[in-house]
Amino acid sequence: LERLTGGFRKTSDRVAENLSGLTSKAALDTATLDDIEEALIASDLGPEASKRIRDAIAARKFEQIDERGLRTILAEEIEKILAPVAKPLDIYGFPRPHVILVIGVNGSGKTTTIGKVGHLLQEQDYGVLLAAGDTFRAAAIEQLQVWGQRIGAPVIAGKEGSDAAGLVWDGVKQATAQGIDVLIVDTAGRLQNKSHLMEELTKVRRVLGKLNEEAPHDVLLVLDATTGQNALNQIEVFQETAGVTGLIMTKLDGTARGGVLVAAAEKFGMPIHAIGVGEGVDDLRPFDPRAVARAIAG
Ligand code: GDP
Repeated sequence: LERLTGGFRKTSDRVAENLSGLTSKAALDTATLDDIEEALIASDLGPEASKRIRDAIAARKFEQIDERGLRTILAEEIEKILAPVAKPLDIYGFPRPHVILVIGVNGSGKTTTIGKVGHLLQEQDYGVLLAAGDTFRAAAIEQLQVWGQRIGAPVIAGKEGSDAAGLVWDGVKQATAQGIDVLIVDTAGRLQNKSHLMEELTKVRRVLGKLNEEAPHDVLLVLDATTGQNALNQIEVFQETAGVTGLIMTKLDGTARGGVLVAAAEKFGMPIHAIGVGEGVDDLRPFDPRAVARAIAG
């Protein structure tokens, strides 16, 4: 389980703590069901998923339940919520290159995730080119270059302040000329200036569409699990501005707020491709709904 999830320890501790004592009562009555629902909300699973799980437990009409039984049902019900959204990144199809636009607020783990995803695709024998499309921050450009070196992938970058859409155009040209399968594009992550961000992403999309009707093939939103419910707001905002096609949630290794993954799945039903469980190149895990559900339920 640890190998598949590489984290969730703090999250499952939080869930266990919130649920503790609830099953010692004589009967699984309405008050206890209410307490369970509240405990799940307090564990960041969100109101929708928490209600759904409560109803599922109620529907089984147990007169009594012990802690172990409760955890087992919880894992089963979480798995039912997660299974429909678990979807590995699929980069089959032509024409090449397959273009992945990576979006998210600064600090969410975007650059790190680009490095990890690039590495994963390289391991599947795909050629990868990284594009430093966050042209607003010199540090972001440098950091992507560091990741390029780390995984042995070329990086196309311009000067700080240069035009992101122009860079992406060059990236597609270079990937095409060199027969590179996948272009992964970093983007700016300033949500403070939504209209500017939207303009820029629209421009990037327009340029991509001119080169390849289907590009971008993926618009990956990177979310920081430690921000809890904030991550859910980000899904809404980015969905509006950028048309998200899938999620990767990061930093699940060190947070007690991993339940937000369940909240996101229930509320948005958007594909979840992978999870980040550390800062290293191998710390990206395919999203395994059963393993994650069991890890969260403890
Ligand atoms: P960006 O600003 O969105 O590009 O974010 P970065 O990729 O620079 O990541 C911000 C910080 O979070 C860095 O210190 C990363 O090492 C760290 N980080 C990224 N992903 C993970 C993860 O899955 N787990 C942990 N523990 N740290 C992460």
